[in-house]
Amino acid sequence: MKNLLALNWKMNKTPSEAMAWGTELIAALSLGEAELAVMAPAIDLQGLAWTLRESGVALGGQDVSQHVSGAYTGEISAAMLKDVGAKYAVVGHSERREYHRETDAVVAAKAAQAQAGGLTPIVCVGEGLDVRERGEQVPYTLAQLRGSLAGVGTDIVIAYEPVWAIGTGKTATAEDAEELAAAIRAELRTLYGEAADNIRILYGGSVKPDNIASICAKPNVNGALVGGASLKVADVVGMNDAL
Ligand code: 13P
Repeated sequence: MKNLLALNWKMNKTPSEAMAWGTELIAALSLGEAELAVMAPAIDLQGLAWTLRESGVALGGQDVSQHVSGAYTGEISAAMLKDVGAKYAVVGHSERREYHRETDAVVAAKAAQAQAGGLTPIVCVGEGLDVRERGEQVPYTLAQLRGSLAGVGTDIVIAYEPVWAIGTGKTATAEDAEELAAAIRAELRTLYGEAADNIRILYGGSVKPDNIASICAKPNVNGALVGGASLKVADVVGMNDAL
């Protein structure tokens, strides 16, 4: 299974900055063992699709509506993302769960809608600091996983992102990442049987060029979802080369 290096820009880069980044990236990058995908703001995708055409770099949305189309002001549908060339859509990022009150049921509906529209959802789960301090990270994250996958098929990527490690510089150790990735794999086997072995499980939270290799060397970790270090081309090239 190929590792996936998924870049989550969050709310960064205007369309022209995105295209400049893409031009710089294709000059500097040689795609190696890992698949590379950019989760850009929806408004950046059209320009990026043009800039990265034939580069082998995939695109994704950072969110997707649970509805097909219609009167949902501000929402972006799976069909819109697909039409612009996206392959993935992140759903249930902790920032959406926290700032937009997205529940597991909403996340599951978005994941199912992404699949119905021909996209692979990257379903995010992970515990906050309070849960980690109580030592309840495994049951908490698995409950979130089950809730976020209700009615969702096997064409998924899971991203384990402990909230306390996001943007804080505090990375989970490779052992912490593997503890959860192994638990998630076991839960996926319960839900999906043998198909679970072909589902990529990513780690996210302060991943950088100097820590990505040790984390992704763990048997159940199949790549990374990267925020801060996805913005500079040099860091992306460093992470791609390390995988
Ligand atoms: P950082 O890499 O900035 O910690 O963000 C992780 C993340 O939330 C990716 O989705």
